[in-house]
Amino acid sequence: MKDNDRKPTTNDVGIPVSSDEFSLTVGPDGPILLQDHYLVEKMANFNREMIPDRQPHAKGSGAFGHFEVTRDIGAYTKAAVFQPGTKTEVLARFSTVAGESGSPDTWRDVRGFALKFYTPEGNYDMVGNNTPVFFVRDPMKFQDFIHSQKRRADSGLRDNDMQWDFWTLSPESAHQVTILMSDRGVPRSYRHMNGYSSHTYMWVNAEGERFWVKYHFKTDQGIASLTQEEADRIAGEDADYHRRDLFDAIKRGDYPSWTLKVQIMPFEEAETYRFNPFDLTKVWPHGDYPVQEVGRLTLNRNPTDFHTEIEQAAFEPNNLVPGIGPSPDKMLLARLISYGDAHRARLGVNYKQIPVNRPQSPVHSYSKGGAMRVENVSDPVYAPNSKGGPKADSERYPEQAIWNASGEFVRAAYTKRKDDDDWGQPGTLVREVMDDAQRDRLVSNVVGHLKNGLSEPVLERALEYWRSIDKEIGDRIAKGVQGG
Ligand code: NDP
Repeated sequence: MKDNDRKPTTNDVGIPVSSDEFSLTVGPDGPILLQDHYLVEKMANFNREMIPDRQPHAKGSGAFGHFEVTRDIGAYTKAAVFQPGTKTEVLARFSTVAGESGSPDTWRDVRGFALKFYTPEGNYDMVGNNTPVFFVRDPMKFQDFIHSQKRRADSGLRDNDMQWDFWTLSPESAHQVTILMSDRGVPRSYRHMNGYSSHTYMWVNAEGERFWVKYHFKTDQGIASLTQEEADRIAGEDADYHRRDLFDAIKRGDYPSWTLKVQIMPFEEAETYRFNPFDLTKVWPHGDYPVQEVGRLTLNRNPTDFHTEIEQAAFEPNNLVPGIGPSPDKMLLARLISYGDAHRARLGVNYKQIPVNRPQSPVHSYSKGGAMRVENVSDPVYAPNSKGGPKADSERYPEQAIWNASGEFVRAAYTKRKDDDDWGQPGTLVREVMDDAQRDRLVSNVVGHLKNGLSEPVLERALEYWRSIDKEIGDRIAKGVQGG
């Protein structure tokens, strides 16, 4: 481009400026004049460029694409986004959980797998992970769990002792910790991992029939992982390895895709199923509820402004469209509140008006005012009204996802089902799903972790924890740790 063709620089209100390089001074060597408002604007904006990190999931990468329905599952949900042939624009954000926004992508961690579907009935968000389960099942422990994975108060250091102290005092973590310490704890790239809703949701069909559902986005690139040695080396060489991989793949037209499969449980079976189907630390074994294909997610467009489109993206599991609702999963019910609250704290009350968060369908709400509002509000600003404002349509949009509950007010664990225990499913994973090489790497990964700063009695509890998952694996880990 010739210099003459370039647009003139302006300040933020469009006033042309005379220099990109020099501040306004008294003579070339003199002091800077206070009237250089352009310099002041540049300095002031720069000081405010960073916004608070997300608390967990601070380091992430994202891209746009679409979700296309390939099978007819209309018998289970009336959600427009899942009707045959429907194609919906999607934003995806992948992330690590514990690290800060500049932390290495290849640290061992669970990965976030968050999706926003811009549907004709409003935004539908699924805030999942690359694992089908979670560390805790009651939201009362969530904040403590995240504290234990992040940094100490005194030194500001991360601390394995703190992590294992929490995990070993929370046996419900065993399933997720087993997956975290397995090959899946460091995916080769964001393209080479699955995404799971983890939570159980409710689907409602056009007849009002209800079903329980779990989502599995299976990578079409195939599952692939990094070994601990590869991950450690890459963390030093390229902290943004996964971000770069996703961006470069899309840039060269190698669009990653995932096939969405769902497990569906008839409504009534939840009451008697051998596992509590709403316990986030358990899967529904495929043999009990096989997966059925729904459609394909493809990512084909990179952000052009990472901050505006990815850093300011706000996903919230309460964004549930007609035909999809929550389940009695206690963790999910708490997340329905905490995500919106986090976005209000981080981005401001009008975060839904930031273009990446704005629905493509019309908004007819009664919200008004608030910092950084950019959409105009018109009267009437209250309901009910006789002035022609929007009116809720309970015939067309009845309250959905209803279930029954009764009982004393208590603070208590879920009632146990026949096969509910914390060691069973991780034990099955270790014994029946992993092969010898995967088990060897699991043992080596855990030994490496436990040898790094564990105090007593945390170490003894950790060895017992692994023996409870699988006696042989626990013994091998103990030997590895004690072997020096
Ligand atoms: P299956 O043999 O039908 O399924 C086992 C599944 O394990 C595979 O399909 C694969 O899931 C997943 N898997 C393989 N390696 C790992 C790993 N290192 N970490 C995590 N997951 C892995 O058995 P079941 O359905 O009866 O489940 C047996 C165990 O498998 C469970 O206890 C659970 O630990 C694990 N699992 C089960 C899932 C489920 O939804 N049923 C999902 C994921 C794991 P995928 O096809 O999703 O890649």
